[in-house]
Amino acid sequence: MQTHQKETTSRELIERWIVQQVLEGRSNQELSGTMFIYGDEAFELQETAIGSLEIKEQPAEQIVVFRKKEEMDPANVCRACGLDYSSFKEAIECCADVD
Ligand SMILES: [Zn+2]
Repeated sequence: MQTHQKETTSRELIERWIVQQVLEGRSNQELSGTMFIYGDEAFELQETAIGSLEIKEQPAEQIVVFRKKEEMDPANVCRACGLDYSSFKEAIECCADVD
């Protein structure tokens, strides 16, 4: 039962992500091939023969994610809580009230 619960959560996160991407105008074809890492689970989006997306769990014993320095944009990260923003202005305003 616990395994099922966990799977539902990660799939829900992925489904929510897909909806967001589709709303931003991205096609299923563009999203196909996207990999998701959730804890020690890996999922890949695969386009089916009829053009819809399927979330396929990828077998993985252990997963380690490394982020390259250049992928991070420290200028747009709130220094207080570490939240990522798309603009520097949003990032500095994030925890401005707390300070
Ligand atoms: Zn913040």
